[in-house]
Amino acid sequence: MRALRYHGPGDIRLEDVDEPEVGPGQVKLRIAYNGICGSDLHEYYTGPTMVPVSAPNPVTGVQAPVVIGHECGGTVVAVGEGVNDVTPGTLVAVEPIQRCGRCRECVAGRYNLCSRMAAFGYTTGYGGLAEYTVVDRVMVHPLPVGFSEQQSAVIEPLAVAYHAARRAEVLAGQTVVVHGAGPVGLGTALTARHFGAEVIVVDPSPNRRALVEALGGTTVLDPGDGDLVAAIRDLTDGRGAEASIDAAGAASALRVAVESTAKEGSIVLVGVHHKPLELAAAPLMMGEIDVRFSMTYRGDFPLVIEAMAAGAYPLDGWVSTVPIGDAVEKGFEALRNGGAMKILVDPAA
Ligand SMILES: [Zn+2]
Ligand SMILES: [Zn+2]
Repeated sequence: MRALRYHGPGDIRLEDVDEPEVGPGQVKLRIAYNGICGSDLHEYYTGPTMVPVSAPNPVTGVQAPVVIGHECGGTVVAVGEGVNDVTPGTLVAVEPIQRCGRCRECVAGRYNLCSRMAAFGYTTGYGGLAEYTVVDRVMVHPLPVGFSEQQSAVIEPLAVAYHAARRAEVLAGQTVVVHGAGPVGLGTALTARHFGAEVIVVDPSPNRRALVEALGGTTVLDPGDGDLVAAIRDLTDGRGAEASIDAAGAASALRVAVESTAKEGSIVLVGVHHKPLELAAAPLMMGEIDVRFSMTYRGDFPLVIEAMAAGAYPLDGWVSTVPIGDAVEKGFEALRNGGAMKILVDPAA
């Protein structure tokens, strides 16, 4: 089968590799689409961070080259021994956390914090940027009839967003500011809107602001347009937002969040910061504002699927597709240059 394998930074190759074989407790999928993620760009341009290149991964024993890609959906084509609750022909979304199931965190249901976790698409050998893959049954979520193949592949980034919105404990009628309108920021805004919150989205890119605006239901602000803290306070009768979500991983977003979050509100960091954080402690302490982090997801996939079935996540304007042969040139490069939001790779095209 055709697969995109990561050999090292700047070195992803379209190769012909053996199809993975389904083992006990596993399912084999024909991949419909696999989205390219910001983490994949990091791995390609500045990695390796996740892929074990110089030594095997201690949990899986896998070493580069690996088939990358972790945002995917597909159709079940075979099931392994012991799997009797999902049948071939079913469209599923893949939840790419391969958990140990036995550690303290897994036993408590906090599998996103598993200490012996493997990451599908980085440390498991077979990822989503291929014609076929194999995963544990627990990692697939069957989708309702009527879901499209494109929808199956965006559920993963939306689950990241959904978890962040849950961490913010957003209630109907409250105001949420989302800093950064990449796919996760956009997903967080749509989730908060689905929860009944008033949503303000902040992003410096005119393209992204236009895109969010076109989806409707949110107020969009340009951080370069005057005093952002004052603008957020104006929109909230002076009190600030009950939740501020940093989906940008930007120090400037955090500075604004500290000054524009309501008393007893929360600041949730879902964007990745590569430098130590600088937070002004006084306003956080004076307002008893919680600062929290959000790490991937746990239990969020079924909730995203339910919200998606209710129409919470229109794909208009922010999702496009490329054939697998063009994934680096028209996928990775286009995302790096800021010309696209979410690019889904079609392994069959
Ligand atoms: Zn991702
Ligand atoms: Zn575990």
